Amino acid sequence: MSTNAWLRERATRTAFVRRSVSKFMPGERLEDALAAAAAQQRQGIGTILTKLGENLTRVEEAEEVTRHYLEVLDEVKAANLRAQISVKPTQLGLDLDKELCFANLQRLVDRAAQRDNFVWIDMESSPYVDPTLDLFRRARARSPLVGIALQAYLYRTAQDVESLVPLGAAIRMVKGAYLEPPAIAYPKKADVDENFYNLSCRLLAEDARRAGGLLHIATHDAHLADRLAAFIDEHEIPPSVYEYAMLYGIQRPLQQRLVQAGRPLRVLIAYGEYWFPWYMRRLAERPANVWFVVKNIFG
Ligand SMILES: Cc1cc2nc3c(=O)[nH]c(=O)nc-3n(C[C@H](O)[C@H](O)[C@H](O)COP(=O)(O)OP(=O)(O)OC[C@H]3O[C@@H](n4cnc5c(N)ncnc54)[C@H](O)[C@@H]3O)c2cc1C
Repeated sequence: MSTNAWLRERATRTAFVRRSVSKFMPGERLEDALAAAAAQQRQGIGTILTKLGENLTRVEEAEEVTRHYLEVLDEVKAANLRAQISVKPTQLGLDLDKELCFANLQRLVDRAAQRDNFVWIDMESSPYVDPTLDLFRRARARSPLVGIALQAYLYRTAQDVESLVPLGAAIRMVKGAYLEPPAIAYPKKADVDENFYNLSCRLLAEDARRAGGLLHIATHDAHLADRLAAFIDEHEIPPSVYEYAMLYGIQRPLQQRLVQAGRPLRVLIAYGEYWFPWYMRRLAERPANVWFVVKNIFG
């Protein structure tokens, strides 16, 4: 459903779908996201901002997205917010021109350096993994102010982690949000969870820390979050080398519990008009969310 244009056209105009999506997004405008980031900051939670959209078809759109994020970095600095940005390579033009995409990413990383900030690169579906790693390596060779998401559901990720550890890379570990075939991704959830745990431990190992790495533990899985917290405590790993990361509106009780326990936490706030594919992936992750949509039909 996330890739169905017919459904997107209709669903995004439907009131009950718009009401349901508000659970995961404070609003479509950047101002809404910045206000929510300020509120999070008052609760001791950092923010990652992302403007929804993917797979652009025109170079001008990639330019528009890049300019938008440059402005976000300026506004975040002006408002003194603890908010980073996270970008999808296809939003910066990866499908159109790889070099243009790299140049756009570089503009963001340079601006982040001027504004004491940081740029995360999202990982999209499997055909994009190699080009995205390539973009990251090139950007990381010029600046440490850039990090990349890696997906624990892919078999290849263990090797990718090994190759990135010596770079002292900032890595956001996620389970993975796309539908991938069993030839390349663990079909069983238990295997994905175990791989997430093992890869995260690997990224918290002494050599990774010495190299200057940073780990974002990006999951709402309370069991996994607690297992990793136990590993962190057992190995006396300082809070400067890891952060938990979650999505706005998901697992608030776990978010509060982590903050109260003194764990560093960032919550990703998405905004923008192009929320349909992103929202469909959030529904697919948890069938209970579909009931939430159904309730809103009558709400
Ligand atoms: C900060 C951040 C950045 C991300 N970036 C990327 C990326 O770049 N590329 C990518 O492929 N994926 C990304 N993801 C998504 C990720 O891959 C998973 O699809 C998503 O986080 C769900 O998996 P989980 O780890 O929370 O665990 P799950 O095992 O799916 O869920 C554990 C528990 O969390 C709760 N939960 C999880 N999802 C939902 C939901 N949608 N609604 C309500 N409750 C829920 C439920 O209680 C569930 O039982 C990101 C996730 C986060 C938090």
